[in-house]
Amino acid sequence: MKQKQSTQNIFLFTAGFLTMAMIGLITTSRSLDITAENIQNYLLGAVLFCIALVTVTVFQSFRISEDAQLIAESLAKDMVDASHNLFTELYRASPVPYLLVDKEGTIASVNRAGLRLFQVNEGVMEGKNIFEIIDGDDADHMALFSGKFDQDLSINDEEVNITRADGVKRWVLFSLFSFRDEAGKKRGVIAMVDITRQKEIDQAKSEFVSLASHQLRTPIAAMKWNVELLVAKNSEHLSENQLKYISKVERNLNRMDTLVQDFLSVSKFELGTYATDHKRINVVNTIEMIVEEHAGAAELRKIVIKREYGEGIRGFLTDTHLFRMIVGNLLSNAVKYSPDNGKVQLRAVEANDALSITIVDTGIGIPKSEQNMLFTKVFRASNARTEVPDGTGLGLYIVDQAVQLLGGTINCVSEQNVGTTFTVILPR
Ligand code: ADP
Repeated sequence: MKQKQSTQNIFLFTAGFLTMAMIGLITTSRSLDITAENIQNYLLGAVLFCIALVTVTVFQSFRISEDAQLIAESLAKDMVDASHNLFTELYRASPVPYLLVDKEGTIASVNRAGLRLFQVNEGVMEGKNIFEIIDGDDADHMALFSGKFDQDLSINDEEVNITRADGVKRWVLFSLFSFRDEAGKKRGVIAMVDITRQKEIDQAKSEFVSLASHQLRTPIAAMKWNVELLVAKNSEHLSENQLKYISKVERNLNRMDTLVQDFLSVSKFELGTYATDHKRINVVNTIEMIVEEHAGAAELRKIVIKREYGEGIRGFLTDTHLFRMIVGNLLSNAVKYSPDNGKVQLRAVEANDALSITIVDTGIGIPKSEQNMLFTKVFRASNARTEVPDGTGLGLYIVDQAVQLLGGTINCVSEQNVGTTFTVILPR
């Protein structure tokens, strides 16, 4: 500012001096005759006048541009202040609970909705570590959160639970994004959406499905048993047409039975009531028994199921029911989605203290664009819906849940009209 002021003074002084000199010269020259000797003086006066005029003009334009710059700077500052205030107010008053944390996850501030969520007063949450506050079903999964934040990876809509100051647990969708503040320091912003109500509704639905499926099992079993009796005791009295109708009834009863079993499995996984029961199984015998169960369907369509077992494959400690669910569903799909005369290959090997099971088929495959949905509930690929109408879309969801319960992984490689390979790895 001072520098600008002194520049202004110099300009004013020079302009004033030159103007005075010019006026002096003109006045002097007026009292004299215009003679040849005085022409020099007139010219000098004119030149000095021009210089004075240019100086004043330049000074004015400098002053105008400086003023404009000052106004622009002050306007920009006002705008920054206004948007900063707006953002601060939005953060404070937002209906979504937000928290700001430092690079260690220590809470620096909580907005009003956050205070309401935790049922605390201002200042109570500050200084606590967010990773010690949140909890979930899976401790290993929770432990990954701070690791992700350390590596600047975002956490999106993860289901966690928090305990309010009054001891009540709430389920929230937890998201955490890291950013740098004006000083370049790492910080994190957390959004929490309360989903306790939805969880309660989901729980009630799962309980209902579980109850309904349980109740349906007995009448379905009774109907199947009676149909079997009818055929066994009266086969010679039944006409060909009657036998055809009875076999249709039998087929549909089996479909209903599978559906009810799937509903029951899904609701058990969702309610978290499946209690694993690990027993040592003979891998080869168990797989052979599962293959036997699907041999009928495969034979009908002339599909060969080849088996290959790694050398020295030993007994394996696992939950038999879950193991059968995994292999049974994958094998049934491989047969179901293969063309007549197709080939299915099942391989089981032990490596690095894990059991690896691979099921390869040469069937209809899964379109690439739909593969990301593969393990979600009731998903059926577009080609499967048109080519194989019979299906619930629950099988792979159940397989994925069962693999997770056993601490394993599942992977799928598939190409439409070429075939599909599922690989399951179960830790020992
Ligand atoms: P579904 O009762 O429809 O077979 P699943 O949950 O077992 O339900 O499978 C989901 C979908 O994944 C199937 O509808 C099908 O589109 C696709 N799929 C699963 N396994 C295979 C396979 N071996 N070959 C081709 N598509 C498959």
